[in-house]
Amino acid sequence: MGDLGVAVVVEDDADVRNLLEAVLSQAGFEVYSAAAGRKGVEVVRDHGANVVTLDVGLPDIDGYEVLRQIRQFSDAYVVMLTGRTEEPDLLTALHSGADDYITKPFRPLELRARVAAMLRRPRPRSLQGRTPAPAPAPAPSSASSSGGGLAEETVLRHNGLALNRKTRSVVVHGDTLPLTRSEFDLLQELLRVGGAVCTKTDLVRVVRGEEDRDDTYVSESDERAVEVHIGNLRRKLHEDPQSPRWLQTVRGVGYRLTPVERERQEVQEQR
Ligand code: CA
Repeated sequence: MGDLGVAVVVEDDADVRNLLEAVLSQAGFEVYSAAAGRKGVEVVRDHGANVVTLDVGLPDIDGYEVLRQIRQFSDAYVVMLTGRTEEPDLLTALHSGADDYITKPFRPLELRARVAAMLRRPRPRSLQGRTPAPAPAPAPSSASSSGGGLAEETVLRHNGLALNRKTRSVVVHGDTLPLTRSEFDLLQELLRVGGAVCTKTDLVRVVRGEEDRDDTYVSESDERAVEVHIGNLRRKLHEDPQSPRWLQTVRGVGYRLTPVERERQEVQEQR
């Protein structure tokens, strides 16, 4: 019981709460719940939640405010529950640092699929606090002369950015970026495949932890969620939209890593 860690359900509708509790505890989580927002923040903090399901409409403070407060001390995997007609809210949720969302009413099957995706995720690096793990300063990419395969390297570097897969931290110019899990996973995937193009469908599966599968359903709003995550990443990276250092849009397809800066300069000089 509870070997997967702690899940917290924040939901004022008793039926939905019971359903969520049942599915999560069946999956192997130790489950706690709260029927209001402030209490929810407290429970997440007290029990060091790994996973949180968060209703948008709560009696005291709304789900976005709960999320904002949770994000100040926790990198738990947060799934927002939104109403069918709350599409703009969904975007707000993802902008505020949610990892995923489920629209209500949802089928238990759908919920189980999302829970399965959570289970494929690595455990949070710490239960207490968002204190960034110490990470090595980024070195010039030309200095990395190790012959090891890229896939096995702990630190992935690109144009002055260093992503440490073990500590799950990203450092740019000596600053550790406060990334959510989804943002980290997307950036890691783009770095991992080098300059190859990742389709939005590929990236949806990365966010869900299903990157080894090609048969799962991906909807348009799933793809839009990836667009929002990438937008958040760009903002945190302070990307220049005219000349991005890391994330390039491949129109109508997806995203890829910007080529290394040395090559870009050469290309520019040849012009
Ligand atoms: Ca509600």
